[in-house]
Amino acid sequence: MAEVASTAAASPCIFCQIARSSTPLLHQDDKVLAFQDINPSAFRHYLVIPVEHIPTVKDLQRRPEDYSLVSHMLNVGKFLLQQDAPHSLQHRFGFHQPPCNSINHLHLHCFALPFIPRWKHLKYLSFGPLGGFIEAEKLLEKIKPYCMELHGRLG
Ligand SMILES: [Zn+2]
Ligand SMILES: [Zn+2]
Repeated sequence: MAEVASTAAASPCIFCQIARSSTPLLHQDDKVLAFQDINPSAFRHYLVIPVEHIPTVKDLQRRPEDYSLVSHMLNVGKFLLQQDAPHSLQHRFGFHQPPCNSINHLHLHCFALPFIPRWKHLKYLSFGPLGGFIEAEKLLEKIKPYCMELHGRLG
């Protein structure tokens, strides 16, 4: 754990810097943080990131710890939007997949729609198997551990 912290201290990653700063955030626990996107694309636009430096969705695997981390990020995002934008048109949650991501520290985009201005939705389009933006629920399906999938099927 000490090793992770020293690597983070040396890195110029802006999200690791936010994780270490004492700026008040929308949410903070031992696993994740949430804050407003500095360049919002929607009525509400929050980011939920893991405290640990995980670069992109490509670094996530079918492992119980990765699955529970992403579910936790999604739950935090849903909770915040429900609290702050209960009457918005729609809530959307997802990740950019490389090379379409901007910052190499995993972050869940949480939107309370509409997109403002409207063309901003173009930044968050899915190109299916080609990549682009992936909805959080779809990512969870992809990294769901096999044992849980089997369990779900067996009921
Ligand atoms: Zn980072
Ligand atoms: Zn992004």
